Amino acid sequence: MIDQRTIDEVLNRAEIEKVVGVRCELKKKGSHLFACCPFHSEDTPSFAVYTQSGTYHCYGCQKHGNAISFVMETENVTYPEAIKRLAKRFGVDVKEEKLTPEKEIEHRKKESMWAANERLLKVYQDEFAKSKEAQSYAYNRWGRDYCNLMGIGYCPPFSKLVDKASISDGIVAELNLKSEKGYDKLCNRIVIPIRDRFQRIIAFTARTLDKNCNTKYLNSAESLIYHKGENLFGIDAAWQPARKSGTLYVVEGAPDCMRLQSIGVLNAVAPLGTALTKEQL
Ligand SMILES: [Zn+2]
Repeated sequence: MIDQRTIDEVLNRAEIEKVVGVRCELKKKGSHLFACCPFHSEDTPSFAVYTQSGTYHCYGCQKHGNAISFVMETENVTYPEAIKRLAKRFGVDVKEEKLTPEKEIEHRKKESMWAANERLLKVYQDEFAKSKEAQSYAYNRWGRDYCNLMGIGYCPPFSKLVDKASISDGIVAELNLKSEKGYDKLCNRIVIPIRDRFQRIIAFTARTLDKNCNTKYLNSAESLIYHKGENLFGIDAAWQPARKSGTLYVVEGAPDCMRLQSIGVLNAVAPLGTALTKEQL
């Protein structure tokens, strides 16, 4: 497996505008760069490139990711191969770490869990695109631009959308995605992905649209890929700006973090458990 420090260095050097710029013509519009999406057919650019966070998001087909996923998708290669290609292009030495067979199996399982969350979010994003109620709530609260940067979704009341996301029963159970009656755990909520700094979706936090519900935000259960005490909300957007500026703001909870990031203070994060732990920093 490729060493984490190599991946960090690749993401640090392979600036997203350079990686995307090889394939797409980027034009400045407002505070971001836009291109015609390389993943779906269109005439007006809706593929946004966020240089600050090193990520992209398509307003049309909801594709979201960083330099590594861009190479994976456009050059049709695996995750390690995409890292190697970028490392070569941007002059980074690749260090590999040999995994034990047990670790190898665990890593594969993590990969299927990240992929499952990715597919589930896509289903929720399609619902978000259809729901005026969800859009009006989210855009009022965080602004359209930030909602797009995050790629948020919506799970309507009494949904059984997990069944639509082609996730194996084993992974559904491990990620604890369904209620006892078979409904989605996140029903009647705006679904906000929690990503790690490599843009992998490790969990969700979801804001209720029910005024009478006391649990305003519901987070995913802990799993092999998500440990409250080790992960920070907002790190996906905050990581690059924090590296560049040398400052990282730690706020109390995900809602505060979203408020700051939505007004352009991207280098903000929030702990997901109760107290801040050493692992998070
Ligand atoms: Zn697209």
